[in-house]
Amino acid sequence: MTGPEGRQAQPAGLAGLAAVLAGLLGDAQVITDRQRLRTYECDGLAHYRVVPGLVALPRDAAQVAAVVRACVAADVPFVARGSGTGLSGGALPHAEGVLIVTSQLRAIRDVVPEDERAVVEPGVINLQVSRAANPHGYYYAPDPSSQQVCSIGGNVAENSGGAHCLKYGFTTNHVTGLEIVTPYGDRVRLGGRALDPPGYDLLGAFVGSEGTLGIATEVTLRLTRLPECVRTLLAGFPSTDAAGAATSAIIGSGVVPAAIEMMDALAIEAAEAAVHCGYPEGAGAVLIVELDGPEADVEAQFAAVVELCREHGAYEIRVAADDAERALFWKGRKSAFAAVGRISPDYIVQDGVIPRTALSQVLRRIGELSTEHGVRVANVFHAGDGNLHPLVLFDDAIEGQAEHAEEVSGAILDLCIEFGGSITGEHGVGMDKAKHMPRMFTDDDLDTMQLLRCAFDPRGLANPGKIFPTPRLCGEVPGRHKGVHPLQERGVAEVF
Ligand SMILES: Cc1cc2nc3c(=O)[nH]c(=O)nc-3n(C[C@H](O)[C@H](O)[C@H](O)COP(=O)(O)OP(=O)(O)OC[C@H]3O[C@@H](n4cnc5c(N)ncnc54)[C@H](O)[C@@H]3O)c2cc1C
Repeated sequence: MTGPEGRQAQPAGLAGLAAVLAGLLGDAQVITDRQRLRTYECDGLAHYRVVPGLVALPRDAAQVAAVVRACVAADVPFVARGSGTGLSGGALPHAEGVLIVTSQLRAIRDVVPEDERAVVEPGVINLQVSRAANPHGYYYAPDPSSQQVCSIGGNVAENSGGAHCLKYGFTTNHVTGLEIVTPYGDRVRLGGRALDPPGYDLLGAFVGSEGTLGIATEVTLRLTRLPECVRTLLAGFPSTDAAGAATSAIIGSGVVPAAIEMMDALAIEAAEAAVHCGYPEGAGAVLIVELDGPEADVEAQFAAVVELCREHGAYEIRVAADDAERALFWKGRKSAFAAVGRISPDYIVQDGVIPRTALSQVLRRIGELSTEHGVRVANVFHAGDGNLHPLVLFDDAIEGQAEHAEEVSGAILDLCIEFGGSITGEHGVGMDKAKHMPRMFTDDDLDTMQLLRCAFDPRGLANPGKIFPTPRLCGEVPGRHKGVHPLQERGVAEVF
């Protein structure tokens, strides 16, 4: 804990808590100095900023539980944080709360190829799991683009996805067990190494709960056998319409590639400016399609995919001859978010989902929105999953542009809902999209979700203010209550 001269004036609820935490963790593991607290004021969505009341840096699960129990005793809210790369403000601190940072829980406890499992602490970085499993012939399949820095605990909380989740599934398909610290401070196990335990699927409920149901302190992950063969192609199409139709045709043919990624002309322009990836000239869209598996299957399916791309208008198809060329294909895609900074000073990264078959239509409508509002939109996304990442470009220095960009960004989410999709694919709801939840869910839907949250956390201390637009039903914070919920009325659920 920093010396008295460095301490900020603590909000009343935190007055004695800093000393209690220092007693539990040691002085060096508790941050109270305002300058150092500012390091944690935002996650990857930097336009939301809140300086946390306190930061705690526990070293193990017992310390996480002790910190949570101290928060409960002091009636102080807490927020878990992994690496802070989230893009929805999920790890945004609470000004009068404790930010519990898991980055020192970094042990890979076990790698068991025979069981196809790894057991890791939550602060372990995603890519480190594959590095530990590779020598055994295995890897960890979910691969968010941030995999070099994001933590497994954050992946669990966000149910993170990645380019190769089309074939292998999201995080939720790769977590078989958890140890969590509940919002009461108890250590509880959900699931384990074996599959399908009886009872409610609380493991499934926890994955994707964005830190609102407790803190994961140990994660049992499913490992996947390294594929015998990987083949990758880059195809240039005249338009996003054609590339979208090719995507649907590939999946419709029964082939499930490991990944199908799309970039439109503006995204390609940005990537070329940044990393000179040499994508096909004049392309209205490119697809990267990757197949993996047993060599004989991959060869046969690859030929079919090439044919389908041609049938749907691909005018140039390059097949990666080796790992270096494959890496070059991916370089443009992986650099795309950051590359957009080359063509626009500011941008909003949107994340929405649509049925794959609606890709062409929705991309056309996004183009129309862009023209109507005079706001450029670059599209770079997981086409196989229908998981869009429109990048809405603006210049904050020009009055009104930020508002226009927000408007277009919101209208894109409306489009996703109109076409039967969702307001978020993989970045979570967090702080940023809580306001959009009523676009997709009725009040009763939201209240029903809150009943689950209340069952874990009736006092509303775990990551309050996230996911839900209005606190209701349980005592998250005083707010609007809607009277008796229909489920209560029917005696199906109770509020406690
Ligand atoms: C450049 C870039 C690219 C990205 N690409 C992708 C992508 O391809 N796919 C994708 O899905 N995401 C992507 N993301 C978003 C982000 O990396 C993921 O959401 C990631 O899972 C967050 O992990 P983190 O450790 O940074 O979590 P944080 O940002 O620290 O926290 C995220 C949420 O998890 C909660 N949390 C953290 N640790 C725990 C824990 N132990 N127990 C319970 N709750 C916890 C926090 O309270 C918060 O709600 C990207 C981000 C960036 C910056």
